[in-house]
Amino acid sequence: MKANQGYSTEEAPSHGAGSFFLHARFRRRVKIREKIGRGGSVLARMAGVSLFLPRCRVCGSDLVLAGEKIICRDCRQKVRLSEENQCRTCGKFIPAGIEACGSCLLLPPPFLRHVSYAAYEGTLREVIILYKYGEVEALKTFLASLYLEMVRKKLPAGFQAVVPVPIDRQRRHGFMPVRTMGRLLARELKIEFSPALLGKIKSTPPQVGLSQAQRKSNLDGAFIFAQKQKLAGKKILLIDDVTTTGTTINKCAALLKKNGAQVTALTLAQTRF
Ligand SMILES: [Zn+2]
Ligand SMILES: [Zn+2]
Repeated sequence: MKANQGYSTEEAPSHGAGSFFLHARFRRRVKIREKIGRGGSVLARMAGVSLFLPRCRVCGSDLVLAGEKIICRDCRQKVRLSEENQCRTCGKFIPAGIEACGSCLLLPPPFLRHVSYAAYEGTLREVIILYKYGEVEALKTFLASLYLEMVRKKLPAGFQAVVPVPIDRQRRHGFMPVRTMGRLLARELKIEFSPALLGKIKSTPPQVGLSQAQRKSNLDGAFIFAQKQKLAGKKILLIDDVTTTGTTINKCAALLKKNGAQVTALTLAQTRF
């Protein structure tokens, strides 16, 4: 039995993803015995099971439980829907006892509501990085299930379409993380998936690493409403992975609203300021 038999091609360590994977490799020190106990380890050996099991790509422990793939059950369970107080409109974390943030009171955003699963930190952040930059596509089902959980627990029923935020033209090849999750979400909700409704016509540097002022102007004129159709009251779920200033969501929601849609935005995580 080959040492790497337990890996699928998706699970094999990826090159070019930077220090994240190097770091993860050095943390892979949890022995199979610690996870399934002494008896289990002996049984595994008797059954001829390789000790070179695939490892959790987040914490490095061996994946020994039924159904564990890419990331272990413990890590999955650490990803929880936030219970922190959020602005009822834009989803920003705000002190307990306050219903809406100052910006929403001053200038209501173009969406009805934005719900973010949790803060962009800890295990959730690592899983998103692994999926988005490590291109571990097999995580799409797990991450898409987080959008579904938000829809079921925090929003009323009745959405008619899922629209992913568009990406730069030159990146429109191969793996498209948000679009991939959007397709799964729409399928699960049995509603339309409309990735071509919005387009991105200006290539922009990633929002991360820019100042707040640069982030706001970076996306000026970047998005367009790409289809000649009126949306007349259509209830749309606009999805993105991570939100920083909310500029992307605001600009995309404004275009959809201008064409008649009622927009609710969903993101997996939001950064703290
Ligand atoms: Zn883990
Ligand atoms: Zn707000």
